[in-house]
Amino acid sequence: MALARIARNNYRRSGNALANYAGERVLLCEGPSVHQCHSPFSGNFKTFHKNVTTGGNLPFVSSILSFGSRGITTTPQFQFGHAERVMVESDSEYEGPNYPTLEATKPGEKPRVVVLGSGWAACRFLKGLDTRLYDVVCISPRNHMVFTPLLASTCVGTLEFRSVAEPVSQIQTALAKDPNSYFFLAACTGVDTDKHEVYCETVGDGKLSQEPYHFRVSYDKLVIASGSEPLTFGIKGVKEHAFFLREVSHAQDIRKRLLLNLMLSQNPGISEEEKERLLHCVVIGGGPTGVEFSGELSDFIMRDVRQRYTHVKNYIRVTLIEANEILSSFDVGLREYATKHLTKCGVRLVRGVVKEVDANKIVLSDGSEVPYGLLVWSTGVGPSEFVKSLKSAKVSRVGVDEWLRVPAAEDVFALGDCAGFLEQVGRPVLPALAQVAERQGKFLVELFNRIGKQDAGKALSAKDMPLGDPFVYKHLGSMASVGRYKALVDLRQSKDAKGLSLAGFVSWLIW
Ligand SMILES: Cc1cc2nc3c(=O)[nH]c(=O)nc-3n(C[C@H](O)[C@H](O)[C@H](O)COP(=O)(O)OP(=O)(O)OC[C@H]3O[C@@H](n4cnc5c(N)ncnc54)[C@H](O)[C@@H]3O)c2cc1C
Repeated sequence: MALARIARNNYRRSGNALANYAGERVLLCEGPSVHQCHSPFSGNFKTFHKNVTTGGNLPFVSSILSFGSRGITTTPQFQFGHAERVMVESDSEYEGPNYPTLEATKPGEKPRVVVLGSGWAACRFLKGLDTRLYDVVCISPRNHMVFTPLLASTCVGTLEFRSVAEPVSQIQTALAKDPNSYFFLAACTGVDTDKHEVYCETVGDGKLSQEPYHFRVSYDKLVIASGSEPLTFGIKGVKEHAFFLREVSHAQDIRKRLLLNLMLSQNPGISEEEKERLLHCVVIGGGPTGVEFSGELSDFIMRDVRQRYTHVKNYIRVTLIEANEILSSFDVGLREYATKHLTKCGVRLVRGVVKEVDANKIVLSDGSEVPYGLLVWSTGVGPSEFVKSLKSAKVSRVGVDEWLRVPAAEDVFALGDCAGFLEQVGRPVLPALAQVAERQGKFLVELFNRIGKQDAGKALSAKDMPLGDPFVYKHLGSMASVGRYKALVDLRQSKDAKGLSLAGFVSWLIW
């Protein structure tokens, strides 16, 4: 909640930064051929590149842009001599003739850490980085961190959107203040680990005057924290018709659709069948996110719909479809509690496998059809296109050792949802959780600050340095809210271990 207050204050102080942003994009793009991309994917981790076009998160960005706008409004080549455009021909497969570039640091300058992402892992790292030792560049398609555990609450208005987002430049103020530190609103599309360079593509929402374009940034040390993406299992129609719940813009879209359907269903001329469809909210996936969202929806129905939409209150329904058991990673007693509680709150639990999604209905593998007005997809996460393009030793995650280094590439580190221990490390791949990302961020930044103090922050200068104790993860337990001030707390170390588990109001207070 403290985060929420900070965000709100800054929101009120914000000016119209979007205009600046658009203006600078024009400057950055001037000159011919900037959109050219000469770099087909080369197929190994030392040199890779893929033209990933990221939709970005601009609808929300535009409303809070001034939080983190400085990195965008001050483009490197217009501020500093060493951050020039490269006009010369080069033999690199990545270089366009006019790629704007943040050049490699020179002797005597502070080493530059480039951080990809602005999620849990990246922000914990950024927060702790000693900027007396390093300059820092954060590159991400969104300029804020999302406090994901509370995202479901924003879909129904329990919390405001700005309460769950924190601008990156508030988390690491150097990004807003230090002359050689920046935030760039872009997605990384490739890394050349030999040259110590990342290749990026700016993001846009299609409303700005310029198409996305590419630029390069040199690093001394690279931290990959680009997260994961929702899994759709290639099921037809999911991407087109379902809502995901990972970004603030997703929550905004869900809220809009929910309210729109409530309004439309009250109009004259709507058939009973159509009214039922419009007000049928379907959640696919019975993991913590799906369950929490279903709980929030049922609270919303009890709290708001019954009072403010009395004409249609008897039509609105929530169905949660799960292929196996809901909350399968939780203790069996907690699962039973959640099942009973959700059912009591009016959430219909259905066992089923989705085969196909149409604009107005879901087709299950048994052939049954489920008409819906709102469909939220939450069936877990997998590697992003960017991570898949890295082709490191692991297929689904960037392979790291115990110090979160990518062994095949000097000065490259990876953490959070996008990283996983290499097989030879002999440790399990950690779950895609904020508590893992957060603790890896803390571990890595302490390591970086130690390295920096020993003057080993520059590229290739920490090669034979002893790095101290490796990263060790101890699971503190899992929690999930199920609505109506009730939650589950599972304090077991792992799925098969014994340990304390609680459900109910006290758990909700803990949550
Ligand atoms: C609704 C929801 C609720 C959750 N609740 C919990 C919970 O209660 N407890 C818990 O432990 N975990 C929870 N999680 C999981 C947790 O949020 C993730 O495990 C955590 O966010 C992972 O952190 P990360 O930094 O690795 O990735 P993220 O937080 O996803 O951040 C990834 C960042 O990388 C950026 N990015 C993506 N592609 C690129 C690119 N090509 N170049 C540069 N940047 C890029 C993204 O914009 C983003 O800023 C929840 C997740 C969701 C979606």
